[in-house]
Amino acid sequence: MILAGKTAVVTGASRGIGRAISLSLARAGAKVVVNYGSNRAAAEKTCRLIENEGSEALPFRADVKIYDEAEKLVRFCIDSFGHLDILVNNAGVTRDNLLALMKKEEWQAVIDTNLTGVFNCCRAALRPLLKRKQGGRIINIASVAGIYGNSGQTNYAASKGGVIAFTRSLAKELGSRGITVNAVAPGFIETDMTARLDPARIKAALERIPLGRLGSVEDVAETVLFLASKAGYITGQVIGVDGGLII
Ligand code: NAP
Repeated sequence: MILAGKTAVVTGASRGIGRAISLSLARAGAKVVVNYGSNRAAAEKTCRLIENEGSEALPFRADVKIYDEAEKLVRFCIDSFGHLDILVNNAGVTRDNLLALMKKEEWQAVIDTNLTGVFNCCRAALRPLLKRKQGGRIINIASVAGIYGNSGQTNYAASKGGVIAFTRSLAKELGSRGITVNAVAPGFIETDMTARLDPARIKAALERIPLGRLGSVEDVAETVLFLASKAGYITGQVIGVDGGLII
């Protein structure tokens, strides 16, 4: 198993893409801390699914918006599993609205979770990763919206564009220490997040996706697994998982 002996923290792993990422890292042999924001029962279900496959996982509540909680999350991983090798920043939210109607709170909630959350978790993980002197992997879940923008998502696109710029900058800082930092930019993936979208918007998107279907959570998880396991000479990149949407 390619990740035997490795440990991972996956944020926002109670459901959706984060759950699938946790499962694929665990299947490859990693021990996983399954972070969640509010849904403990769902996080425990992610852990059960992992344990059913013979791997180890532990749930941990931490609000990635809050630096102290991000620090506790990393500390929990080290106290439980001895060290940290892989950090996947997946937790994310949307509060869609046209800018003319967008409330300050809608802007702030998205920036605080999607962008400051990535800063908080990377900052908290940095010292343990460097101390371990074994390299490491940081994978940030961005979005095609962060590259191309999206009407009704100025807050979300700004947060994900920020994640991409952050990823490239941190890759430059950490390359000499053998730590790779990459982003994955999903298109339309079938999760609770896209279930909330207007069906007309999904239909319009499908017409623009060359592969002719929405993505699955496994499509994203397999890409994260590649970046977390092989991909030793890939850093500072943004890998699109979008069925060709942006071509
Ligand atoms: P989802 O189904 O809505 O799940 C979101 C996850 O994030 C949940 O586990 C939630 O935990 C967690 N979370 C939210 N706020 C948090 C906080 N403050 N602290 C800790 N955890 C928090 O979302 P998804 O569709 O799987 O999306 C996962 C990531 O992919 C996000 O970053 C999203 O922006 C990105 N993405 C998704 C799509 C898509 O089409 N679905 C496309 C592009 C990018 P609780 O439920 O426990 O609160």
